[in-house]
Amino acid sequence: MAVKGSFNAFEMARTQFDRTAERIGLEQAARDLLRSPLREYHFLIPVRMDDGTSRVFQGFRCQHNDARGPCKGGIRFHPQETIDTVRALSMWMTWKCAVADLPLGGGKGGVVCDPHDLSAREQEQICRGWVRQIARNVGPVTDVPAPDVMTNTQHMLWMLDEYERIHGGHYPGLITGKPVGMGGSLGRKEATGYGAVYTLREALKELGIRPEDSTASMQGFGNVSQYAAKLFREMGGTVLCVSCWDQKDQTSYTFRKKDGIDVDRLMGITDRFGGIDKTKAPDLGYEVQGGEAWLSEEADILFPCALENQITGANVGSIHKRVKIIVEGANGPTTPEADEAIHARGIFMIPDFLANAGGVTCSYFEQVQSNMNYFWTEEDVLARLDQKMTHAFSAVSEVARKRKLYMRDAAYMLAVTRVAQACRDRGWI
Ligand code: GLU
Repeated sequence: MAVKGSFNAFEMARTQFDRTAERIGLEQAARDLLRSPLREYHFLIPVRMDDGTSRVFQGFRCQHNDARGPCKGGIRFHPQETIDTVRALSMWMTWKCAVADLPLGGGKGGVVCDPHDLSAREQEQICRGWVRQIARNVGPVTDVPAPDVMTNTQHMLWMLDEYERIHGGHYPGLITGKPVGMGGSLGRKEATGYGAVYTLREALKELGIRPEDSTASMQGFGNVSQYAAKLFREMGGTVLCVSCWDQKDQTSYTFRKKDGIDVDRLMGITDRFGGIDKTKAPDLGYEVQGGEAWLSEEADILFPCALENQITGANVGSIHKRVKIIVEGANGPTTPEADEAIHARGIFMIPDFLANAGGVTCSYFEQVQSNMNYFWTEEDVLARLDQKMTHAFSAVSEVARKRKLYMRDAAYMLAVTRVAQACRDRGWI
């Protein structure tokens, strides 16, 4: 999925924060402290490629705030990664952990690379190189990384192994999203998608809509959408279409099936980055269409689950009038300009750092399990996840109803208030 135009995610994250700071009358010191990362690291990762040549990759880690606990957040591999994107995402992690009421702060990392073009060995070298550059600045009690866009359980395990070699011991609490059986938690792969659907279930209840009567359109078919689609289907809903980025053609395609997509069969023709094989899809009964068709689909619910900057001032007008709810599975998919139009149309927004908090919530469970070296059943993990997500949704929706606020504004208000209070309690400001 491409990040379009001259969009700057950090400017967007700051605009959202500044508005909240204004709304809650935040003191100047808190504004200064929270509108930038506390610490950030930029480094180079030299790698010997399979053909014998050397390439140097750029790596980042931003630690936005750790007043509520160790920084927490994923590492992305993306060819268009920038320090500003990582800064924005680290800030969103702070709000996400606060809204889910986890004892964690916000961090994010990245490497400018495209894993589509890298062998497994080259990816392993990038993972190990990333850790070598930052091994003294991350750790179970300081900053705990995790998977994100185009990184997976194998990457996490290579990173853990490198960290353990450097520090000479076992530190499974360093990183989350590890493979099950190697310190990973059951339920982690489902957690972000399921978490989004738990919040949707609560929104549907609030709006008096039965899941059985509702249809959805999704952007992206990676880890988040796959499990969101699965659980939404189990709840009785129908996913009419999914769109995904085609790496070869450098464009998006939408895959539509009138009676609803079949997640398992579709996953059978999907690569590990969420790319669906468009030559095989018609045989499974899909109509394939280029462009942004997912956004104008006549559905009740939209799930943008790909990247930031996807619903913008330029395309927000094409959202179908039937749409009642947007569930932001991705981080930052809606620009402030598009957000205003969505708010004005009265669409119910479940904002990113609430909707996709299931991933980090399960990561928190994973860290707890890793640190105790005692692992829970899948049933147990998912029940706790549901409880946490339902609780977070209710807390935000209560603020929204009481203060007559848009859900994103209510979520910001709750999160920023909690983090600013932690900074005051510690005597930082
Ligand atoms: N990368 C995920 C996110 O953006 C998960 C982070 C984590 O598990 O720490 O929320």
